[in-house]
Amino acid sequence: MPITYDQPLYRPPSEGRNLIVQATLGCSFNHCTFCSMYKCKAYQVRPVDKVCAEIDVLANSFPHAHRVFLADGDALGLPTDHCVMLLEHLTSKFRNLTRVSAYATPKNLLDKTPKELSVLQKKGLKLVYLGIESGANLILKRIIKGASQKTHAKAIERARNADIKVSATVILGLGGREDWRIHIEDTAELINQAPPNYLSTLQLTLEEDAYEPFLESQPEGFSFQDDMGILAEQERFISLLAPSRPIIFRSNHASNCLALAGNLPRDKERLLDEIGAVRSGANTVRPEYLRGL
Ligand code: SF4
Repeated sequence: MPITYDQPLYRPPSEGRNLIVQATLGCSFNHCTFCSMYKCKAYQVRPVDKVCAEIDVLANSFPHAHRVFLADGDALGLPTDHCVMLLEHLTSKFRNLTRVSAYATPKNLLDKTPKELSVLQKKGLKLVYLGIESGANLILKRIIKGASQKTHAKAIERARNADIKVSATVILGLGGREDWRIHIEDTAELINQAPPNYLSTLQLTLEEDAYEPFLESQPEGFSFQDDMGILAEQERFISLLAPSRPIIFRSNHASNCLALAGNLPRDKERLLDEIGAVRSGANTVRPEYLRGL
């Protein structure tokens, strides 16, 4: 019998071909004002025996799977012994398993000791997806991210020291037209201080039910960036990035007006040229009908 997922179910685009195991439901934090992904769900830790039974079903149907994503919004918030049981069960059922990944908040990472993260890495957790959104404390406070530039940097370093890869996302447009410079400059400062392995930029796109909470969290008169404003942010961001370790950079999420891909710092000039071509009118942005969340 196929398993039934508790909806809505989200996963990073790069996990599109991988198995999903729902270890928790919702998000244990659930306060970010721009995010309505799990507002309809109460956070729950799913019982180990239920999750393991679903892993068995998936293993019968897809015995050769080599990557598994643990959903929902921050499966890394599970106690370490709980995570270990799930990781051990996954390893015993999927002989070709090379990677287990999960969304994580900075708090999830900092609540675990370096030793606990190292145990999880050895048991199979190889990648976490961390929505940093901004490196500017002003913006992080407004969007109620529950983290600061400092805690983001500590969380990235803690994961990387345990040999767990970090895929971080930044949301262009979060500072609006008024505060875009501080948003971008402080975010570049964070990334240069604590480079993740992968970095993606998304373009601020709100679900209908997120408009009100988002605008309530912003100063009066907040104005959304248009595509040219977003490209100015992207250009400034990339121009300021000088990470001490290479970063795989992507802005190919469906929300973006311009898809970019490269390695930083190696491809910096090419990426800036591609942005410059659109800003100068030599190239065009992705049409609205081809964009999404
Ligand atoms: S952005 Fe992430 S941490 Fe914030 S509410 Fe949404 S799922 Fe939770």
